[in-house]
Amino acid sequence: MPHPKNNSLRPYNTFGMDVQARKVIRIASIEDLKSVLQIHRPQEIRIIGGGSNILMTKNIDAVCLINQFSGKSIVRRDDEHVWVRFASGENWHEAVQWCVNQGFGGLENLSLIPGTCGAAPIQNIGAYGVELKDVFDSLEAFHLESQQIEIMHADDCHFAYRDSIFKQHAKGKYFILSITLRLSLHPNLNTSYGGIQSALDNQGILNPNIRDVAEVVIAIRKSKLPDPLIIGNAGSFFKNPVIPESLFQSLQKTHPHIPSFPAKDGVKIPAAWLIEQCGWKGFRDGDAGVHPHQALVLVNYHQASGMDIFALSEKIITSVQQAFNISLEREVNIW
Ligand SMILES: Cc1cc2nc3c(=O)[nH]c(=O)nc-3n(C[C@H](O)[C@H](O)[C@H](O)COP(=O)(O)OP(=O)(O)OC[C@H]3O[C@@H](n4cnc5c(N)ncnc54)[C@H](O)[C@@H]3O)c2cc1C
Repeated sequence: MPHPKNNSLRPYNTFGMDVQARKVIRIASIEDLKSVLQIHRPQEIRIIGGGSNILMTKNIDAVCLINQFSGKSIVRRDDEHVWVRFASGENWHEAVQWCVNQGFGGLENLSLIPGTCGAAPIQNIGAYGVELKDVFDSLEAFHLESQQIEIMHADDCHFAYRDSIFKQHAKGKYFILSITLRLSLHPNLNTSYGGIQSALDNQGILNPNIRDVAEVVIAIRKSKLPDPLIIGNAGSFFKNPVIPESLFQSLQKTHPHIPSFPAKDGVKIPAAWLIEQCGWKGFRDGDAGVHPHQALVLVNYHQASGMDIFALSEKIITSVQQAFNISLEREVNIW
C-alpha cells in the first residue's frame, strides 16, 4: 500500500534526513513482496527496517520497502537450548527483552540496539563482547530475482566484524524474512566488557542473571549513546580498524598510550580514540557534529543534510589517515 501522505523517508531513518523516495511501500507478507516485483525490478528496490544504520545523502530514486513482517515462535527445544524464530520486521530490542523474560540467554548483552531483527544479520550486530553470530542458527531470505525462499546457516552468511555476505556480494539481492536464534536455557553470562561487571559490583549483585545483565547494559547504553529521538544519529559511524602488528608497533613509539585489542588479523584500535586524538570530539559545524561524549557517533543536531554528515565523515577519515596512517571505514550504509 503506498504511503498515505508523501514519500518522505524522514520517519524511516534515525538520522532524521528528510529525503524523498520514489515510492514508499509497507511490506508484511510474501504476497506483498511478489506484487511489488510484478511492477518493479529488484534493482529498483531498497529495504528499510528501522533505518538506524543508513545515512541518506540524497533523494532515493528507488522503491523503498518498509519491513513490517511480524511474529515470533519457538521452533525447537532440547535440554540445553531453545530455537526461536523472529519475523524480520520485529523490533530487535523487544525481541531481546522477550527472550530475557522467558529466561532464554545469549541476547542480554545486545539489549537496546535499535532496528529490526531482519537487519541484525546484515552487519552481524554486536555489543559488549557478543555478536549476532554467537547465537545465530539460520535465516530465511527471499531472493528478489528468482522469488524463491532460501534458508541460510551461519557459514552461508560469512559473518565477520560488522560484516556479512549481505554487505558484500549478496548486497541488495535478498529480503530477509526471518531469523532463527539458538538461545541457552542455562546461560553463561558475559560480564567482562565495557563496565558490565563493575556496574553489577556497584549494585551489590553477586549472582547476576540475564535480566541483571540486560538492565546494566541498557543503563550503560542510555548513559553513553545519544537517543536518536532527541539527536539524529546512527550509532557508531565508523568501524574499529584492524591494523598490522608492524604499524601498531611503530605507532606505539609515538603514542605510547594507544589503546588496542587483539584481533584475528592484526590489532584492533578503537576508532573513537583515533577520532578524539585528531580533535574531533564535540566538533560542530552548523547542525552536523561529532557527539561530545562519544567520538564515534556523528550527529544531526536538527537541520544537517545527509551530505553535511557525509562531508564531515570525509574530513575525519582524512585527518585520521594523515595522523596515524590508518584508513577508517564507515559502518553506516550510505544511500
Ligand atoms: C543509537 C544507536 C546505537 C547503535 N548501536 C549499535 C550496536 O551497539 N551494535 C551494532 O551492531 N549496531 C548498532 N547500531 C546500528 C543499528 O542499530 C544496527 O545496524 C541495526 O541492526 C540496524 O537495523 P535497522 O532495522 O534499523 O536497519 P536499517 O538501517 O533499516 O538497514 C540497514 C541495512 O540493512 C538492510 N536491510 C534492513 N532490513 C533488511 C531485510 N529484512 N532484508 C535485507 N536487507 C535489509 C538495509 O537495506 C540497509 O542496507 C546502533 C544504531 C543507533 C542509532
